[in-house]
This record gives sequence, structure tokens and C-alpha cells, in this order.
Amino acid sequence: MNYGLYINGKWVKSTSDETFESVNPATEKSIGNFAAGNELDAKKAVDAAEEAFEKWSSTPAPKRGEILLRAAQLLKENKERLARLETIEMGKILEEARGDVQEAIDITEYMAGEGRRLFGNTTPSELPNKFCMTVRRPIGVVGVITPWNFPIAIPAWKMAPALVCGNTVVFKPASDTPLCAIEYVKILEKAGVPKGVINMVTGSGETVGSAIVKNKKIRALSFTGSRDTGDWITKNAGIKKISLEMGGKDGIIVMDDADLKLAIDGVIWAAFATSGQRCTAASRVIVHSSIKEKFVHELVIRTNRLRLGSGLKSTTDMGPLINEAAVRKSETYTQVGRNQGARMLCGGVRLPGRGFFFKPTIFENVTIDMKISQEEIFGPVLSIIEFNKIDEAINIMNSIEYGLSSSIYTKNIDMAFRAIEKIDAGITYINSSSIGAEVHLPFGGVKQTGHSREGGITGIDEFSEIKTVYVDYSGKLQKAQIDNRK
Ligand code: NDP
Repeated sequence: MNYGLYINGKWVKSTSDETFESVNPATEKSIGNFAAGNELDAKKAVDAAEEAFEKWSSTPAPKRGEILLRAAQLLKENKERLARLETIEMGKILEEARGDVQEAIDITEYMAGEGRRLFGNTTPSELPNKFCMTVRRPIGVVGVITPWNFPIAIPAWKMAPALVCGNTVVFKPASDTPLCAIEYVKILEKAGVPKGVINMVTGSGETVGSAIVKNKKIRALSFTGSRDTGDWITKNAGIKKISLEMGGKDGIIVMDDADLKLAIDGVIWAAFATSGQRCTAASRVIVHSSIKEKFVHELVIRTNRLRLGSGLKSTTDMGPLINEAAVRKSETYTQVGRNQGARMLCGGVRLPGRGFFFKPTIFENVTIDMKISQEEIFGPVLSIIEFNKIDEAINIMNSIEYGLSSSIYTKNIDMAFRAIEKIDAGITYINSSSIGAEVHLPFGGVKQTGHSREGGITGIDEFSEIKTVYVDYSGKLQKAQIDNRK
């Protein structure tokens, strides 16, 4: 099967006529040929989006919201079909793929409602007979560049707010999951998004992605992906509004008073769901030394019970990694961990045969200077680090370049609030795993993870500009206080 680009409301070939394959990571079989867009295709997409902007931005926001509500309904009707496709293309188990589609439904519904809000503020003036307010305006043509790990949810997190705010979009999905992106765009098309309002160019990051990044007609860029790509974007985008959601090296603190079963449930979910390929995945457990032995014993038993296999089977707990390079990365870090003196308790090897499967892996005796406790692996590799006092645990938590998600298991309210106050991260969970975002709350990180916040009203902030309005109905020149204060 061949798939095209979506430009100005039409499905078209790449101008180079070149294609690339997307592969099922559980079987290594091709699932189709996709148009390999190039700079010219990216330019055409941007031009189409620019052309469509005037009409779309003038469409009343509640009408834009109605289209999104239809899209949410279509996502619901197609949930099972889309989830299966996602499992086939990306590898995550069906239950998690359903969750990904559900997240797209939730954010699209939320943003549909924003069509009747998009609130600005009013505030009193310092002068009589003068009225002050802010209104929201769309930004213009926005570029959306996404990774493969949430191939429907992440595009939806970005495009639903972009559209309701009145922007037009040029979308560049990850080359590992073009089919999921196409299916999402088809839903928006069917829901009634007019031609030119969304445009999608599949193809490599180096060609299509960089052409979008550098295009001066793109007024805002929303990127989720690796720190290196985000760094490159920052240096090459020129003057644009840029939002970056990048890597993580998230941790879970387990205090000596924690409910151990609850903590182990949370750690297994955070470390091995999506085979560790979530930006909020926990790759470090910071455990109080008085309970470490018991905790590790139980954790390893539970981890060894996880069943690897095709995500389509209901008996599977963990699917494959996304591609061969991801398996090699986990293998390399496993070797580095051993070389640096950490002790491997389970896993550490790929499964023989076809598919990109890597066993869930746990290291103990890990110290904060080791690479496995510092660098994002994006695979099922978990490090256990011991501590004795809460301040030490928080120092370990903060000893990394990233700052996305974090969690603490404790029954002590003082410890919980200390963690909320001191952990340097965008998200802190108390007695809950490090993953589990809800779409109406802000999502994002600090430090090398980036600086943006998506979701809820912060998603609207990302995709709108604020205009300040002063209405003077005094009938005379009134100078502001800065110019008339004696
Ligand atoms: P990449 O940075 O490799 O790719 C992300 C996207 O950027 C892809 O569409 C890619 O295209 C594109 N791209 C690559 N090079 C360029 C370029 N020069 N200019 C413009 N676009 C480019 O990341 P991964 O796909 O490997 O995703 C995994 C990363 O994403 C992890 O670091 C993870 O932590 C992070 N992530 C962060 C989240 C957050 O919210 N903080 C959420 C989810 C993931 P192509 O596929 O063609 O290479």
C-alpha cells in the first residue's frame, strides 16, 4: 500500500516520487510505503497553510470547536481500529494503544470546548473612563514536529489547540509512525477541517523537518522529541515562538514508610510500560536503604514475570522497542552499566528471532555519576540508587540534566511536601507512578527537558498571542500614569 502527503486538502505524491517504509517492530515486516517529502513539499505545505490562514482565523472560534468535537466523535468511533494500527506500527501493547487514542479523544474534546472560551482578561485602568482588556489572537502558520512514542496523542495535544485558536498547521510526523499520523489527519479531514488548514509532510527530519524549522513563514514551532534535535531547532529556527518537549530521566523515591506493594506496582508501570519508551518513564528508583533489600527482591520477581511479545496478544505485558537502533542503545547502556560497576539483576539481553524485543533490565549498586543514572536510555533499563535521608534522595533526583516527571512514595505528609517543594521537575506525583498525565493539566518540564507547558489552558497559551487593548472613552487625551504623575 502507498500513502501520500496531505497538502492543500489533497493526498499527493512527493515531488521527488521517493518513498520510505514503515515497519512493524514486532515482526520487522513492512506495513506500507510512504511519500518521502522534501524541501519543496515542505514549502508547498507552508504556502497552502499561509493561504488558508485568513479564512480559518476569521471563522468564529465556536465553529472551529464544533469541527474538533466531530473529530473527537470520529476518534471514538474508530478507537479500536486506530489502537490496533498503532500496536502494529509502533509496538506498544493494545491496552496502551487504546490509552493513546483515548488521550487524543480527551484533548480534542477539551479543546473543542475552548472554542467557547478562549478567555482573555479584563482589569481596571489607572485612569477614569478607560477600559483595559486582553484578547487572544491566532499566531499564524504553525509547525508541528512529533516523535513516534505517542503517535496519535502527541499530534492531537498540539493540533487540537492550534486549530481551535485559529492557526493553520504544517505537520511533520516521526518517520517510524507515518501511518498513525495519516489516520489522524484523515479524521480531521473527515470532521470538516477545510483545505489548507492542516497539511502533513512525511519524510526525514533532516530534510522536511529542517525545512519547516527554517521557513520564515512559520510563526510558531511546537516540537516533541530528543534533546539533540531540540537543541538544533533552537539554534536554527530564527525568530519564532518555539515550544520544546524533550527528554527525561525521571525518578521515583521510595521512602522507608512507603506502601511497598503500591510502590512496586508504580515502579513496574513507570519503568516498563511502553517498554520504557515514555518521556515520563522512570529509569531511576531512589530507595531508602532500610527497605532496599526487600523492595529489590520483590521488584525483580515481578519483573521476571513480565511477558514479552506481540502487543496484539492479550497475554503480552511488554511489546518490542521501536527499531533496531533502540535495541542497540539498550544493549550498549547495559554494557556500560556493567563496565562502570553496577550489578545487573535481570534482563540485559534482546530476545532471539525477529522483532526488536529487549528484556526488562534492572541494575543495583548504581551511583549518580554512572551513565545509566544520568543519560536517557529510552528503553526498559532501570537503575536502583540507595539513600538514607530525604535531602540525599532529593539531591539524587535533581542530579540530572533533565526535569520532566518525578514521584515519591511515602505516608509522611511532611516528606511529600518537601518533595513537591524541592524536586526540580515539571511534574511530581505523590504515591503514584511517574506516568499518568491528564489532558486538562499542564504538561512539560524544566532544565534540558524544555520550558513549554502543553495541555489545558497552557496549550491555548502555547498556540495564541495575547493582544492588550485600551479603550479610552473620556473624549480627551489622557496620559498614562508614567507620563503624568507629579
Ligand atoms: P527525535 O528528536 O529523533 O525525533 C522527533 C521528531 O523530530 C521526528 O519527527 C524527527 O523526524 C524530527 N527531526 C529529526 N531531526 C530533525 C531536524 N533536524 N529538524 C526538524 N525535525 C527533526 O526524537 P525521537 O523520535 O527519537 O523521540 C524520542 C524522544 O522524544 C525522547 O528523547 C523522548 O524523551 C522525547 N519525548 C519527550 C516528550 C515530552 O513531552 N517531554 C514526550 C515524548 C517523547 P524523523 O522521525 O524523520 O527523524
